[in-house]
Amino acid sequence: MIIDYHTHHERCGHATGSIRDMIEKAIQQGISHIGISDHSPLYIYEEDHFNPGMTMAKSEFPNYYKEIFELKEEYKGMIDVRLGVESDYFEGWETFYKELYSQYSFDFIIGSVHYFGGYHVFNPERWKGTNVDRDEIYKEYFSLVRKAANSGMFDILGHIDAVKGLGYQPVSSMQKEMEETANVIAKSNMAVELNTSGIRKCGEIFPSTNFLSLLHDRGVPFTFGSDAHSPEELSHGWKEALAELKQLGVTELATFENRERKMMPLNELLVEHKR
Ligand SMILES: [Zn+2]
Ligand SMILES: [Zn+2]
Repeated sequence: MIIDYHTHHERCGHATGSIRDMIEKAIQQGISHIGISDHSPLYIYEEDHFNPGMTMAKSEFPNYYKEIFELKEEYKGMIDVRLGVESDYFEGWETFYKELYSQYSFDFIIGSVHYFGGYHVFNPERWKGTNVDRDEIYKEYFSLVRKAANSGMFDILGHIDAVKGLGYQPVSSMQKEMEETANVIAKSNMAVELNTSGIRKCGEIFPSTNFLSLLHDRGVPFTFGSDAHSPEELSHGWKEALAELKQLGVTELATFENRERKMMPLNELLVEHKR
């Protein structure tokens, strides 16, 4: 039994395959919960479709929801399709996005920091030039993750150390930053995903083993997301993530329905995966 709560499809403009393709592939792979969680529209801009290569248009959001809703019904009994969204976290836009999401019946909402300091987190331009202060970039990212945790808007925090994704290391230790962030997340009652796109981007799961252990010490629940941008990437790194969790002594993983968290024993996931 495999769960995967972080997936994208062609609607965002930079992923391939339809939602149906993702579901079909998930069934083939023996995934039992597939969370559909495409990028939220960019409401911070006036245009309906500000950046077609980055996310769906605002006007497309109701269609997105409706399509998952219908597929969830259609595939009942074959696979649990869970209705989600990977929401951007934009400081100052908390109320707007909260009200937007309250109009729908999502199973879960992932909150991720993608844009900060004028760049997308995976834009290499940020790291170029002589005045770049890597520590400040790391600190800013973690500070926004803490704000996302404090916002109360989300069920899962997405790729919480994605700032490392292009391989640029901080100059100083970020231990204190990570500890402070883990403290805030523990208070927020949100789960943290083991996001294996980190393996594809920089050879390490988001978050790092060290960060995971700080979170685990504070009782933060975990879930799994491959952040698949094509059907082939579904459940990528599942075994590595489980090994990581076992090593840490984690005994259960979080699943989500109607925005309620239900913990599933890791044993069940491991045993059923062998079949
Ligand atoms: Zn994406
Ligand atoms: Zn993301």
